[in-house]
Amino acid sequence: MTNNLPTPPVDSHSMASPESAFDPADLCSQLIRFDTTNHGEGKSAGEKECAEYIASLLQSAGYAPLLLGPSPERTSVVLRVEGRDRTLPGLLVHAHLDVVPAEPEQWSSDPFSGEIADGYVYGRGASDMKDMVAMTLATLLEWAQQGIRPQRDIVVAFVADEEDKGDYGALWLAAEHPELFTGVEAAIGESGGHATLLTAVDGSPVRLYPVAVAERGTLHIRVRAQGTSGHGSRPVPVNAVKILISALERVGQHQWPLTLTPAVKSYIEQTTAALGHRADLETEEGVQLAIETMGAAGTVAAVTIRCSSTPTVLRAGYKVNVIPGTAEADIDIRCLPGTEESTMAVIDSLLGPGITREFLSHQPPTQSDAGSHWFDSMSTALTRHDPDAVVVPYCMGGGTDAKAFAPLGISCFGFAPLGADPEGRTVDGVHGIDERVPVASLRSGQRILRDFLENV
Ligand SMILES: [Zn+2]
Repeated sequence: MTNNLPTPPVDSHSMASPESAFDPADLCSQLIRFDTTNHGEGKSAGEKECAEYIASLLQSAGYAPLLLGPSPERTSVVLRVEGRDRTLPGLLVHAHLDVVPAEPEQWSSDPFSGEIADGYVYGRGASDMKDMVAMTLATLLEWAQQGIRPQRDIVVAFVADEEDKGDYGALWLAAEHPELFTGVEAAIGESGGHATLLTAVDGSPVRLYPVAVAERGTLHIRVRAQGTSGHGSRPVPVNAVKILISALERVGQHQWPLTLTPAVKSYIEQTTAALGHRADLETEEGVQLAIETMGAAGTVAAVTIRCSSTPTVLRAGYKVNVIPGTAEADIDIRCLPGTEESTMAVIDSLLGPGITREFLSHQPPTQSDAGSHWFDSMSTALTRHDPDAVVVPYCMGGGTDAKAFAPLGISCFGFAPLGADPEGRTVDGVHGIDERVPVASLRSGQRILRDFLENV
C-alpha cells in the first residue's frame, strides 16, 4: 500500500468531519449523484459509472480493485485487503450499488442531488445502501492514508443488482468467481446494527441495535392450472380459472403455525427484557403480547414468528366469452430457517391436484451463530461506541445478497452500523420518498464499522 492521497470529490456543500479524513457523509452524497436505478428484468443504469468512480478512488489510494460483471453495464467492484495474519479466516463486507426507482415529482428535491441539509444526507440510496458503501470506502481510504492493515483479510464487494434478483451482481460473483472469496468465513451486509430508539417501561430511553443473524428464505413460485377451453356460455367440467382461484384461496388463507426459531426467540426475549417487560413465549397470546410491548422493534418480530405465502400475480383469459385452457399465478413464499421442506410440502397439499408449479426464485433461508466471536466483535464495537447499547440478534423477514454468499459456506450477518443521532434524527424514506440518513449517524457508524473491521 502506498500513501498516495486520493483527491476527495469536490463538493459545494462539504462538511468535513473532524474525526475522519474522508467524510462518509460527503462520500455518500457523491455516490447518490450516480443514478444507479435498477428497473428490474435486467435493466439498470449507472452501476458501471459508480463502480468506476469507486475503483478510481481506491486506485488513487494504492489499492488494486477488480471491476467485474457479466456485461460492462453491470459492474461490481471487488477488493481484497490482506490482513496482518493471513492464517486467520477472512471477512467479507458486501454492499450494493444499485437503488430502487424514485419518482422525482413526489420528492421535495432531486432524488439524485445528494443534498446535505438539516443534518441529513438526502437522496435515493442514502440509507439503502450507499451509506454503507460510503462508510466502507471511508475506512479503506483512511487505512491507506494511515498505513493500517486489518488483522485478518477483508474482502470488499460493492455489487450490482441487489434490488432485483442479484443475477448480475452477488449471484453472478458467487457462481463465476468463488475464488475471490477463498478463506472467507463470515460476511457482513445490509440491515443490522442501526440504533433503534425505544422507551422502557420506567420511561428511560433504550438504544437497541439489532444485528441480523438469519433471513427467511425466498421461495417464489409460478403455479399453473390446466383445464378445458371452450365457449363461455357452456360451462366445462374442468375450468382452469376456477381450479386456480380455489388453490390460491387455500394458500392465501392458510394460517401458518407459530414457529419460534432461535434468532426470533432471542430477539423477543432480549428486547422485552431490556424494556423491562416480562415475556411469556409459551403461548400464542403471550408471544403476541410480548411483540406489542416492543414498540417499533415489534414489527420485524411480527413477520418472523411464522412462514408466509402471498399470491401476488394472476394471469388468465383474454376474452369474456372464452374459457381459457390455462390459468397462472405467482406466489411469494417466505420460509423460516429449518422449515423449507415442510413449508413446500404444505404448499403442495394446499395447491391440490390439477396444479403444477415451478420456482421463479429459490433462495433458502440463512442462519448464522449469534454465539460466535463474529457476533461478539460486532457487539463489542457497538458498545465501545455506545456503552448503553443493547445488541440483540434478529431474523430478517425478507432477503439480501447474504443469500448469494451463504452457499459458499460463509456465515452471514446483517451489520451496517449507524449510531444514534444526538438530536433524534432517524433514517427515513427507504424505498419511499425523501430517503435520508442522519449525517451524525453515518459518521458514528463509520467509526463503529472501522473499529469492528480492525479488531474482529
Ligand atoms: Zn438494500
